[in-house]
Amino acid sequence: MRTTPRDGTQEREGTNRRLKAPIRLRPLMADGSGKRALITGITGQDGSFLAEQLLTKGYEVYGMIRRLSTPNTRNIGHLLDRIHLVDGDLLDQASLQTAVQSVEPDEVYNLAAQSFVGVSFTQPVVTAEVTAVGALRLLEAVRTGAEDARFFQASSSEMFGKVQESPQNEETPFYPRSPYGVAKVYAYWACVNYRESYGMFASNGILFNHESERRGHEFVTRKVTDGVARIKLGLAKKLALGTLETRRDWGYAPEYTDLMWRILNASQPGDYVGATGETHSVEEFVQLAFDRVGITDWKPYVEIDRRFARPADVDHLCGNAGRAREELGWTASTRLPDLVRKMVDRDLELLGPAGRSGSSS
Ligand code: NDP
Ligand code: GDP
Repeated sequence: MRTTPRDGTQEREGTNRRLKAPIRLRPLMADGSGKRALITGITGQDGSFLAEQLLTKGYEVYGMIRRLSTPNTRNIGHLLDRIHLVDGDLLDQASLQTAVQSVEPDEVYNLAAQSFVGVSFTQPVVTAEVTAVGALRLLEAVRTGAEDARFFQASSSEMFGKVQESPQNEETPFYPRSPYGVAKVYAYWACVNYRESYGMFASNGILFNHESERRGHEFVTRKVTDGVARIKLGLAKKLALGTLETRRDWGYAPEYTDLMWRILNASQPGDYVGATGETHSVEEFVQLAFDRVGITDWKPYVEIDRRFARPADVDHLCGNAGRAREELGWTASTRLPDLVRKMVDRDLELLGPAGRSGSSS
């Protein structure tokens, strides 16, 4: 059973002992000096923002990267002289063991995943290996190699899937609708299980969609802002999408990486929803993006292409982040129009003359 907040206190069955105490952030809240963080998925959207934030707090930051034939350090290029990179792959237990033992981290953030729902339908097994069993491998590496380290698992609102209530909170039952969602449910429970079995400080952030100028181009938000910028600049004529109807609770990624840190620096481990509490359709997102470039009659530019639709989709997500607000002092402040503006403006910059000549990357 997950935890229930009552009057600023809560019972925690997710630890090996039952605790009933107010949640406080650790005194080191504003200063991580001397602490070491190991981030998996550092080359991704969230990993790069989290690395920046931890460096600002005085952490020594270690990022795990896997071997690729062409290095993918675009998001962390500006940090490379301030962070340490260690080799490792969530598919390979020994490499995780070695990474954890060599870094001796105080905090481990597991952000690595096959994170794209669409691909999880065509590559379900690799999604399970990386996103589900990969999290278990890392938990095991931490348990055996750095048992006092705090562990953060990037869980997902996709676990709610066919939602059983709205808005969704920490008590809402899971009903995943994709191999990705199923894999994230496994990883969520693995994290809870290591907390309960071994007393590890292991916590989940149940994160609703969060986007930014660094979002991968396959996700609908970035696909739209990039596509609209291309249309505005005369580089494309159409934007093909799978559906305009589904609804998401979209926030701004750096606020969600701040939540990850707050979760690991609370006085007790636990599971927290991160969300804005607002839900918007893909169509609203598209309209805001076209508005930003001054195109009001946008429908002729958009076509529905079923190749981008999913065998089963999540129709409607809307999160309640009340627990994170009350216990960790966290709220998502960026609203959708501001998020769309930031993303469209950045894509215009990247695709414009300065960006294409490489001076604005
Ligand atoms: P990204 O897809 O941008 O980043 C994923 C990261 O995982 C990349 O650094 C990637 O490395 C790494 N990775 C993939 N496979 C492996 C592997 N086998 N071994 C080691 N590393 C690997 O994701 P985000 O930054 O957007 O998300 C971070 C985490 O939060 C993910 O776990 C995601 O599922 C979760 N999440 C994200 C949400 C969102 O809206 N962004 C919402 C809810 C949860 P490489 O660069 O080499 O491919
Ligand atoms: P997700 O919530 O993790 O699946 O994030 P996505 O950005 O991939 O998808 C958000 C929603 O947008 C889902 O309901 C998708 O079905 C919908 N969507 C509609 N058209 C597209 C498209 O062309 N690409 C993607 N990625 N999603 C689309």
